[in-house]
Amino acid sequence: MEQDLQLNICHLYPDILNLYGDRGNTITFSKRCEWRGIKANVIKLGVGDDYDFQDIDLFFIGGGQDFDQHALLDDLGIGLAGSKASRLAQAIEKDVPVLAICGGYQLLGEYYVDASGDRMDFLGAIPIYTEAGDGRLIGNLAYKADAIEGSPLVVGFENHAGRTRLREGVAPLGHVVYGSGNNGEDGTEGVRYRNVFGTYSHGPLLPKNPAFADCLLRIALERKYPYSALPALDDTLETRAHDAMAHKLNQ
Ligand code: GLN
Repeated sequence: MEQDLQLNICHLYPDILNLYGDRGNTITFSKRCEWRGIKANVIKLGVGDDYDFQDIDLFFIGGGQDFDQHALLDDLGIGLAGSKASRLAQAIEKDVPVLAICGGYQLLGEYYVDASGDRMDFLGAIPIYTEAGDGRLIGNLAYKADAIEGSPLVVGFENHAGRTRLREGVAPLGHVVYGSGNNGEDGTEGVRYRNVFGTYSHGPLLPKNPAFADCLLRIALERKYPYSALPALDDTLETRAHDAMAHKLNQ
């Protein structure tokens, strides 16, 4: 009997952390599962909602403004045993895949000092930290995602005050070929820590970066069903969208 494959995808704070259509990433996950006959159960968790994170196969968290990030700190329960923050950190240490975009990416790190100099202590689940710089880093973004098989060129859009630094020895997701990336200085973009893929790429990111989407789905599927395989899809349309953007950026 063919195994009935299903993935539980947790979308954290979909109503608050959702800049530039970031929710399109969970729609992409769902459709790319559906097209393969894999059942995708999307669990949307807002402030006050909860779920057993041990049943989650893939987490997604989008971007948000400084005050959005601040508004979530009580609900996350940073530093408290049994809180969402501590259970998400535990999932990360168990190599559960996570896609985190911009503010959601920053939130998984140690802290964020915003433009007014106020420091927010974040999850500390990945060895990065963020400090707002002069002005915002805004515009199209393209990078070679060396931490993804095949080092695909990823195209997106960034808009952030925060400049993120990776602790010594922590691998970036990739290297910038167009735009600013983590901080506009060291040429890195994003992070790959265990199976956390953090990036500044809004867009939404995944509809026009199918290799990125499938990298996360493959990790989630193989963790849950060790002998499963993710069949290829016809990505003609997605590739045309990707290449149109890459061409616009002369990449
Ligand atoms: N508030 C954060 C910053 O400005 C993240 C912004 C975002 O998610 N686009 O750096």
